[in-house]
Parts: sequence; C-alpha cells; structure tokens
Amino acid sequence: MRYSVFSILANGLSGNRGWKPVWREPEPKPEYDAVIVGAGHGLATAYYLAKEHGLRSIAVLEKGYLGSGNIGRNTTIVRSNYLLPGNVPFYEWSMKLWEGLERELNYNAMVSQRGVLNLFHSDPQRDAYARRGNAMRLHGIDAELLDTEGVRRLAPMVDFDNARFPVKGGLLQKRGGTVRHDAVVWGYGRAADTLGVDIIQNCEVTGIKVEGGRAVGVETSRGFIGAKKVALAVAGNSSRVAAMAGLRLPIETHVIQAFVSEGIKPFLDIVMTFGAGHFYVSQSDKGGLVFGGDLDGYNSYAQRGNLPVVEDVCEGGMALMPGIGRLRILRNWGGLMDMSMDGSPIIDKTPVEGLYLNAGWCYGGFKATPASGWCFAHLIAKDEPHPAAAAYRLDRFGSGRVIDEKGVGAHPNLH
Ligand SMILES: Cc1cc2nc3c(=O)[nH]c(=O)nc-3n(C[C@H](O)[C@H](O)[C@H](O)COP(=O)(O)OP(=O)(O)OC[C@H]3O[C@@H](n4cnc5c(N)ncnc54)[C@H](O)[C@@H]3O)c2cc1C
Repeated sequence: MRYSVFSILANGLSGNRGWKPVWREPEPKPEYDAVIVGAGHGLATAYYLAKEHGLRSIAVLEKGYLGSGNIGRNTTIVRSNYLLPGNVPFYEWSMKLWEGLERELNYNAMVSQRGVLNLFHSDPQRDAYARRGNAMRLHGIDAELLDTEGVRRLAPMVDFDNARFPVKGGLLQKRGGTVRHDAVVWGYGRAADTLGVDIIQNCEVTGIKVEGGRAVGVETSRGFIGAKKVALAVAGNSSRVAAMAGLRLPIETHVIQAFVSEGIKPFLDIVMTFGAGHFYVSQSDKGGLVFGGDLDGYNSYAQRGNLPVVEDVCEGGMALMPGIGRLRILRNWGGLMDMSMDGSPIIDKTPVEGLYLNAGWCYGGFKATPASGWCFAHLIAKDEPHPAAAAYRLDRFGSGRVIDEKGVGAHPNLH
C-alpha cells in the first residue's frame, strides 16, 4: 500500500485496522534468477535489480532479521567528502540518491542534511582539508573551509582553547548529515517486496554450490536454493562466505562500537568529527548524542566490543566538548566491519562465474547503501561495472591500483 496523508487519515479514523504488513514472509522457491546473500546493501541491490533492470525472480537471504546487520547498527552519518577520483563520483552519486530516496521509496527515512563538519587542529591539517575541499568542489560537490569563528557559530560548546588540540577551523559539507538507519532497511525492504522480491529472513547460507567453475546455487539453513547468479553482500562475514566458494579475500573482520547517551535538550544540530583523535557525533531526534570512534583493534566475529575502546572514544569526545563528561551512556553495541586493505570497497565479479562480490565497506558503508545497491545491480544485470564504481575492482590488490584514501597502506586498523 502507498503511504500518504490520506492513508494516515483514513486509518486514523478507522481504528488503524487498514495497515498491511510492510513485507511478505515467503517460503524460499527452489530456484531464482538472482540470489542475494545479506539484507543490508543486498536489499538496495534487489530493489534496483527489479526496478531498473526488470528482473522479477530475486531472493534476498538474511541469516538474522532485517536490520540485524550493520545497516541497523551504524551511527547514521552520510556524506560525500572524499578526495580520490575512484571514490568521489561514487559517494556523490550515493548522496544524490539519498536526496531523492524518500520520494523514490514512498517511505520516511528521516534524511536530514544537517551538515557534516570535520574539525582541524593544526596548519598542516588545514592544508590537507583545503585540498580535500578543493577536490570536492572540482567534482561539483559542496565544501566550505571554515575558520575558528565559523566553527564557533555552528558549535559553540566546543573547547576552542584546548592547549593540546586548539580548534583552527573545519571543512563543512552542508549536504551531508544523517539518515535513520532502520528506516532505510524497512524502506528498501518494502519497496523491493512490492516489486516481487522474496525477502527470506532467518535463512543462513552455509555453502555455495559451484559446478564447472560456475555458481549454481546456495546451501542454506532452509535447504538448497538454485540460482543463475549469486551475489554476496555480507559485510563482516565476507571472508567466511566467500571461502565457501574457495575464494580468499583481501579483507579482515574487525569490531566497531557505537554509543548513545541519555536524551538532552537540543545541543548539536550538525554532525561533527574531531580531527585530533577518532570521534564523531550527532544528536538524534530523541535527544541522545550518537557517537563512535576507532575500531576495537583486533579481529573478531563477535558483535560486541570492549571497555578500552569505550574509554578511548569517550576521551576523544571530552577533549572536544568537556561538558559531555556529565552525560550517562544509555547503550552501546558493536558491528562486524569488512575492512579492506586500502580502506575502499569492492563491487566486482569474482573468479567464479556467476558469483558477484560487494564488500570491503570498512566502517563507512552506510552512506554508500543507495549507490552500492545501484552499482551492484548494474554489475549483476549487465556483467560489467557501473562507471561510478569502476575503480572498485577485486584485482586492484594484485595490480597495485589501490584506492588508499587515507594513505596508510594495508593496515585495516588504521583506515
Ligand atoms: C557501530 C557502527 C557505526 C557505523 N557508522 C557508520 C556511519 O556513521 N556512516 C557510514 O556510512 N557507515 C557506518 N558504518 C558502516 C556501515 O554500517 C556498513 O559499512 C554498512 O552498513 C555495510 O552494509 P552491508 O550491507 O555490507 O552489511 P550489513 O548491513 O551488515 O548486511 C550484511 C548482512 O549479511 C548477513 N549475513 C552474513 N552472513 C550471512 C550468511 N551466511 N547467510 C545469510 N546472511 C548472512 C548479516 O546478518 C547482515 O545482515 C558503521 C558501522 C557500525 C557497526
């Protein structure tokens, strides 16, 4: 059913008995044209495969419930403030898709372009941010370099005179902001279901069947499902699932945590990042500060983190805004990051015919959800990369054409 002011009024006047389930709960069919594993980017992929490429026989297999992966665990920040040519067009395409997403899906995803401000604390860091801002503007993306006073107008609560980390200014992307993460899952899920995509929850892929070098289906906790094409979008489980087809990926799995404080009055109406440590923060509509920082720093498949990183993240926040030290943390959680060796993603075919890979999002893949789905659908349908994702090839780690946005090399813990 379409949501509109009339459907709200009609249901409000009739005891809210007319609402339909947002998606069906179908039994898996014996075979599909395309089976997509993982219901994060996988949902967006299924939606665009059906909508843009006309495929009708598609299943998305999810081992948990919709939103149980990183798509429902992130700190909701979206932006397109990248530096390198391989990344800039892709993330800007994603930003453009976010800007039209609610109308496209007929779903309120709470897209809030409140601005993303990256602070800098030294002259060399100002140079680096100016360079990034210039690269963005050359690509037609909005970017503004602010001085200390410019930052003070946006974020007066910051400790500007901190002797160790004086705030010298910031790079602002006004079109960046936040999007409610669960609403993105529900919106894409509902829209894909409407186009006939079977979304199958509690269905874990336990094997990939390869015959004569070609993927022909997947073994699952609900039986074998045949497929003409198999697409993997399983984030922190990428290495494990790809290994089922005999592939070894340039990916390590790490944990990252997110935190939400108790609700407070309106305090911060932008997304802000600390430039002298790893800390990023925004305020949710319910009033909680939503924030995060570094990876936990060890490989793990557990969706929870440890106390040293809690301390480290809170230290970063308090160096920036000492006043928040009086807040209580309401909850925190962890997610499994598919850390690639150059910090950039992979959207590509694999050496196994009919097996496609979407992975390596590190801890920045939420903002990519629409473009990732769009470009992955293009790859699956046409067997060639979408121009916006042409740099995200799997063989770049062998050829050396890496997209090392932070210039730290093959050190996932530093990206
Ligand atoms: C704490 C935290 C903060 C973050 N903050 C941000 C942010 O502010 N901005 C940003 O852009 N990004 C952020 N990210 C990163 C972002 O959330 C991820 O990069 C992105 O959501 C990855 O999408 P995905 O579809 O690849 O993974 P997921 O959403 O995790 O989807 C993969 C799905 O695959 C399923 N799966 C795995 N194995 C199997 C199997 N064998 N069979 C069936 N299903 C399987 C999983 O259950 C999961 O639901 C953050 C992540 C975390 C955890």
